[in-house]
Amino acid sequence: MTNQVRGALNNADLLISKNLINGRWIGGNRAPIAVDDPFTLESFAEVPNLGENEANEAVAAAEVAFPAWAARPARERGAILRRWFELLVANRDDIARLITRENGKTYKEAQGEFDYGAGFIEFYADEATRALGEMIPAPVPGRRLYAEREPLGVAAAITPWNFPLAMLTRKVGPALAAGCTMVAKPASATPLTALAFARLGEEAGVPRGVFNIVTGSARLIGGVLTASPVVRKLSFTGSTEIGVQLYRECAGTMKKLGLELGGNAPLLVFDDADLETAVEAALVAKFRNGGQSCIAANRIYVQDGIREAFLSAFGERVGAMRAGDGFDPANDIGPLIDDAGKAKVAEHRDDALARGARLVVEGGEAQGRLFAPTLLADVPADAQIAHEETFGPLAGVIGFATLEEGLQLANATDFGLAAYLCSEDPKTIARVSRGLESGMVGINTGLISTPAAPFGGVKMSGLGKEGSHHGLEEYLNIKYLCQARL
Ligand code: NAP
Repeated sequence: MTNQVRGALNNADLLISKNLINGRWIGGNRAPIAVDDPFTLESFAEVPNLGENEANEAVAAAEVAFPAWAARPARERGAILRRWFELLVANRDDIARLITRENGKTYKEAQGEFDYGAGFIEFYADEATRALGEMIPAPVPGRRLYAEREPLGVAAAITPWNFPLAMLTRKVGPALAAGCTMVAKPASATPLTALAFARLGEEAGVPRGVFNIVTGSARLIGGVLTASPVVRKLSFTGSTEIGVQLYRECAGTMKKLGLELGGNAPLLVFDDADLETAVEAALVAKFRNGGQSCIAANRIYVQDGIREAFLSAFGERVGAMRAGDGFDPANDIGPLIDDAGKAKVAEHRDDALARGARLVVEGGEAQGRLFAPTLLADVPADAQIAHEETFGPLAGVIGFATLEEGLQLANATDFGLAAYLCSEDPKTIARVSRGLESGMVGINTGLISTPAAPFGGVKMSGLGKEGSHHGLEEYLNIKYLCQARL
């Protein structure tokens, strides 16, 4: 265990049961939302179950706070983000404990998420000063043409449960750096990390109303955020189904949209791949966060010449993985987030087996919401696992013969978030990475996310980018100015 009392915090003030609206911590009148520990299945905390009134209050607070925040010199906004980052780092263990407690992932992975997530606040603390304008050569004498970048106003964020810190900081960092104010709604399963993050922001000097956080009914709060003409941008990370719905709901107010949606990532292992590299890439791309990652390798395509060797080496590693309490360092993965998530993994396994797949590592259902790492071979291309996000620790290996066939199989999906390929041949790497219909490509690695890189998908995986200077751009409008009579 990482702590004597399982998951106990050093700073108990970071376990928060209220919401931050207009600089005040408030509760609600409705029965609160219970937060469960997905390993013990016990409810260990509560958060407010707020709705339309409070969401409207939060939007109004963000609107009032916007002009002053936008007018602050970028360096000052950056300095506040830098202080927020430093406070996060000072509370790294507690934030990681909250992540493990409410999400179930291992404490080591929670620390990894912390470093990645806090990294967005650090990155955008610096990036704040880089929203540069441009001078444009005038077409006629006596004129000056230029373009300025200005913050677009109030932004809204709706985030999922699988990375409770990082999916939020990826939005808050660039929004506040750009000069926008924000209203955020975290996932109901994992609101505690977000609330602790907000508390540290307050301590760092984020002014009243600049960052507001509302927990409760997704439909009611989401309805306010999408319908409000004050909210000029919605950034959503979650399922494609809800993303499509929010896209429609935002049409009436012509909001700018950032949609980070579902994935169904392929991993292609070519005959000329380095076996050990391919196994490492597959392990991390498939099993990180127990497979509950939007960029998880959902379909592992292995070329004929290397397939048996790959299955043997990968199978050995998968078979050695343990599922259990995220706070026990002996475990490699924690429980799934809920019973429906566990049932879906079992359904994908059963469907593949019924279609003729072979069980290489049995894994499967264990106590509570645990599902032990499982490996299938000879998965037919029409199996459910090849078309839908499994979102769990089930890996399915599918064969292919030629580069063209591999590419065709990899692209045979409505999704296009991440893709991975393993090869030592520069020509194969160049042809395949160009041919893949995805927003991101991991080459000889399963670990691609970092605050400095542009994260985002194509096709049904969404719109826009998060991270890098492109992430800042998402919260800025370009205003063109044309001055005559010079
Ligand atoms: P989800 O059900 O779509 O929920 C995501 C968020 O949307 C939650 O805060 C949820 O609130 C809220 N929500 C649900 N219904 C809503 C509605 N009608 N109006 C407004 N908000 C609504 O997704 P999830 O199951 O939490 O997350 C898993 C999905 O996220 C996977 O598909 C995964 O691939 C995707 N994901 C994508 C990325 C990426 O960057 N592309 C990253 C991580 C995850 P409640 O929790 O209160 O229901």
